[in-house]
Amino acid sequence: ESLINRIAAGEIIHRPSSALKELIENSLDAGATSIRVTIKDGGLKLLQIQDNGCGIRKSDLPILAERFTTSKLSTFSDLQSLRTYGFRGEALASISHVAHLSVITKTMTDSCAYKAHYLDGRLTPAKPGQSADPKPCAGNDGTTITAENLFYNTPTRLAALRSSSEEYARILDVVTRYAVHNSTVSFVCKKAGTAGPDISTPSNSTTKQAIRLLYGQTIARELLDAKFSSGVRSADEDSMDVDNDDAEEDGWHGEALFTSANYQAKKTVFLLFINHRLVESTRIKRAVESVYSTILPKGTFPFVYLSLEIDPRAVDVNVHPTKREVHFLDEESIISRVSDEIQRTLAGQARSRTFE
Ligand code: ADP
Ligand code: MG
Repeated sequence: ESLINRIAAGEIIHRPSSALKELIENSLDAGATSIRVTIKDGGLKLLQIQDNGCGIRKSDLPILAERFTTSKLSTFSDLQSLRTYGFRGEALASISHVAHLSVITKTMTDSCAYKAHYLDGRLTPAKPGQSADPKPCAGNDGTTITAENLFYNTPTRLAALRSSSEEYARILDVVTRYAVHNSTVSFVCKKAGTAGPDISTPSNSTTKQAIRLLYGQTIARELLDAKFSSGVRSADEDSMDVDNDDAEEDGWHGEALFTSANYQAKKTVFLLFINHRLVESTRIKRAVESVYSTILPKGTFPFVYLSLEIDPRAVDVNVHPTKREVHFLDEESIISRVSDEIQRTLAGQARSRTFE
């Protein structure tokens, strides 16, 4: 049974950055405004994430790393209209099957923090012979999750990874993307034992400011923006922004920041969030690239940040275990709407330049 769990866990947790993605989503779900990531050896020796979110109640700690333990849905209809990131209660369980997992957490109402260790889905003693029960300890409001010795028991998974510097680069990429999409949240990412962080963003910045900080001025100064909607909503378009979480029934909306024809890179940088989840969609990416292929010199590519909010019932987030490549109903029409709008904006920019 343990082996089966370990294999299942490997399907969700491919590498340190996929574990981190799940942990960041949990912190965001918990309402954190500060997320600090500490890494050793590309995340293989240590992957730690500290947040100032709502914390976990002491009474929930014993079952925290059991499969299908989730505080995020209680009924089947919740499952159909999913609004938070997590929904399967599998991330912590999976991590506990392929790493040494520990949690320090404090809710606002508890007078102290509690620390618990997990192995293979269950509470485990910190040291042999001790009790496995969560122990009171000092700690601020929020949660610190620590995964150590990732893939210690799955040598083939470990062997498939390239190098700790490659894994660290992937970790920085995941943190960077979440920091752009959640520009009101402060993100820090550093290697353990080093002085300066590799990523450090303030809280309460705009998406554009976050892009400037993380991707540089060359990209930031060429950014154009566009908003999209299904047209189902009759409400005035100005009220649609990223803070408006309510994709209207059967409708969808979104926004994008993307570089003008003045910016030309060797490859596309494409940040895609659907319902605030970092995902991949080869079809959307190709469609956007084909818009740019008509305006950029051959062999040059744009930077594109795209955030879409689609009725959750129309999104198949379950299609792939890592939940990255998504599919959704009406893909065709959403993609053409997005491409058309980007095309129009780029063309408008070109036109206004000729009239200057
Ligand atoms: P899911 O996110 O799908 O619910 P997870 O295994 O990722 O499943 O997390 C299990 C549960 O643990 C969550 O539902 C949540 O209640 C709790 N949890 C995990 N991480 C945090 C966190 N950083 N802050 C508060 N609660 C958390
Ligand atoms: Mg989760």
